[in-house]
Amino acid sequence: MMENIGLGTHWVEVDLGALQHNYRVIREKIGPQVKLLGVVKADAYGLGAVEVSKVLEAQGIDMLAVTSAAEGQQLREAGIKTPILVFRPFLPEEISVMARWNLTATVASREAILSLKEWLEEHGGTINLHLKVETGMGRYGFWPEEAVVAAQEIMSIPGLFLEGVYSHLATAMWKNKAYCRKQFQIFQETCANLEKAGIKGLIKHIANSAAIIELPEMHLDMVRAGTLLYGQYPNAPVKKGINFNLKDTWSFKAKVVYIRELPQGHSVGYGRTFRARRSLPVAVLPVGYVDGVQLEPLFKPATFLDFLKGAAKLLLTYVGWEKFRAPVQFPGGKGRIIGKVGMQLTMVDVSEVKDLTVGTIASVPVRRTAINSAIPKVYKEGIEVLQAGGDIGISYEQES
Ligand SMILES: *Cc1c(COP(=O)(O)O)cnc(C)c1O
Repeated sequence: MMENIGLGTHWVEVDLGALQHNYRVIREKIGPQVKLLGVVKADAYGLGAVEVSKVLEAQGIDMLAVTSAAEGQQLREAGIKTPILVFRPFLPEEISVMARWNLTATVASREAILSLKEWLEEHGGTINLHLKVETGMGRYGFWPEEAVVAAQEIMSIPGLFLEGVYSHLATAMWKNKAYCRKQFQIFQETCANLEKAGIKGLIKHIANSAAIIELPEMHLDMVRAGTLLYGQYPNAPVKKGINFNLKDTWSFKAKVVYIRELPQGHSVGYGRTFRARRSLPVAVLPVGYVDGVQLEPLFKPATFLDFLKGAAKLLLTYVGWEKFRAPVQFPGGKGRIIGKVGMQLTMVDVSEVKDLTVGTIASVPVRRTAINSAIPKVYKEGIEVLQAGGDIGISYEQES
């Protein structure tokens, strides 16, 4: 049980032991020949990028990745030494940050190469690069046929060091792997052309979490894991089909602030979308959609049947059939969110929950990447509690 009066009414609990466990599971799966990159973008999917990076670095991870140079700088300032790849195309004004903090840039256009060249001519120094190839995601990257020329141009510029080449799969989490096999084939051909042109020894990588599990032939020299590290599965079918035992790393906790018996026929919340068919006990939680509640993980339907099921659930939930909502977990059982989730309040049917009082701590389903980063985090294993932007003191969790 938690005794964190200083944390107020709700907080995020992060299990760093589970993170280490997941790291080892992935390592075992990919084998000793393949490097592991830990994706810690978006505040490490809501877990806290600095704390997660420290744990992964101590475990011996080969590389970390973030979206922006600013995220990379934050990790360097916290003392992280591991190579950090910046995924997003950079603006010219971000080059100095990448050079200053020894971040590895993604280069995806000729303009980017030229702006690096210009910067280096003025300031000197070195910058490591990974070349991004467009194989089907449709976001950014050199077209496959441009890759060799781009790589040659990079290698002709003093101070630029081409270390890797990569691409990103758009549908690896689907059951139907045809599109991502096509992407992989284009990537392999591009890599072969680079080798033929004499550009050898690049770290080649394309696999994300779904491909780590389901497409071992795509592991190449390095894999990039986000979702799996944090104990989630890229999709429900993947979870069912495999023996890959991950531990969840993250939960959102809130204390019950109010409990009351609601009479039969009474409605709950804005728009009166829920009406009590019988008298029932209702608990109020001090969290709402600003915190990400009711933004559950989005599983994109892979088949038309999945789509119909999803649409039916959404419709039924909307008209007040609460059965399909993810449960709120109390120590004494499961509750169901009822009515519309408010900005900072959520109502829960607790008729099947035992021993509930004001102050009881619940685990609330939310989409973790949508969570407000100002919400305090508690790290299990006696690690300091840090809040976004600063230290809010030391708080230890006692396991009872
Ligand atoms: C976010 C991201 C990943 C990680 O994806 P998961 O499915 O969460 O493992 C890998 N590569 C790139 C380029 C990404 O942007």
